[in-house]
Amino acid sequence: MKTVSTIKDIRAIIRTERQKGNTIGLVPTMGNLHAGHISLIEQMQQHADIIITSIFVNPLQFSPNEDFDSYPKTLDEDLKKLEITGNHYVFTPTANDIYLDGKSSITKVTVEALDGILCGKSRPTHLTGVATVVAKLFNIIMPDHAIFGLKDYQQLMVIKQMTTDLCMPIEIHGAPIVRDDNGLALSSRNSYLSATKLEIAPRLHQILLFVKQAILQGEKNFRELEKQTMMILEESGFKADYFEIRTQNKLKLATVNDRKLTILVAAQLGETRLIDNIEFENNEENI
Ligand code: AMP
Repeated sequence: MKTVSTIKDIRAIIRTERQKGNTIGLVPTMGNLHAGHISLIEQMQQHADIIITSIFVNPLQFSPNEDFDSYPKTLDEDLKKLEITGNHYVFTPTANDIYLDGKSSITKVTVEALDGILCGKSRPTHLTGVATVVAKLFNIIMPDHAIFGLKDYQQLMVIKQMTTDLCMPIEIHGAPIVRDDNGLALSSRNSYLSATKLEIAPRLHQILLFVKQAILQGEKNFRELEKQTMMILEESGFKADYFEIRTQNKLKLATVNDRKLTILVAAQLGETRLIDNIEFENNEENI
């Protein structure tokens, strides 16, 4: 495995790999790797000959009051973990490689129809920051395949839409959420949680499962279900940001007429913002 930090060097490597006839798979990350990230690399092995994992904490997707400065940076441990996964190259650009002023870019990518809802509502610049950096990484690496976790469901839908709309010849794969035994979705931000908060956090997944079950058992008033669940979240110790039952892919507010559903939640636990979701199909007889 080789670590490459400049755009010029990674492009030279990709040219050589392409000349050998190899296909390229990209796994974009912000580092502080856990089993969720590693699962993306393992799944990419089924799609591409050469796997490039990028590690870049993207300033553009954080707003000034967020945790950009304190975001965990653990490059040495990350490289050790990557070494044993079958990853081929690690791309570690600096902020100055990606952004002319090290922070932002004049040209930005916004996927309008999927912004302004869910995480886009409470983090208004976040999804544009994500789409812009992913577009840049795609233009640098020009992969055949890229993979993203379903954990960041709205992000995955934004990237799929961007890739289609901007005619990028890249196949986007979504990977299942990797969870702790207690159901808590793995996240780099879980390391911010105290022991007490770590006991509360798995409730998020339990509540998603509970609401999924209620829908499968015939609950039809989705808006009322959302309202009641927001209260349950507050009673469980979360400061709820949203809890919404939406359609898969297009993320429209779902009604009982929709079959393919995703329930998405974001909630603050102390200083830590947690997100989770669950995808499922409603029973035909409920529709
Ligand atoms: P991040 O480093 O948090 O930007 O995440 C990089 C990629 O890993 C994104 O595509 C995430 O959706 C994915 N990811 C993060 N946590 C998980 C998880 N628990 N299960 C599956 N994928 C994940």
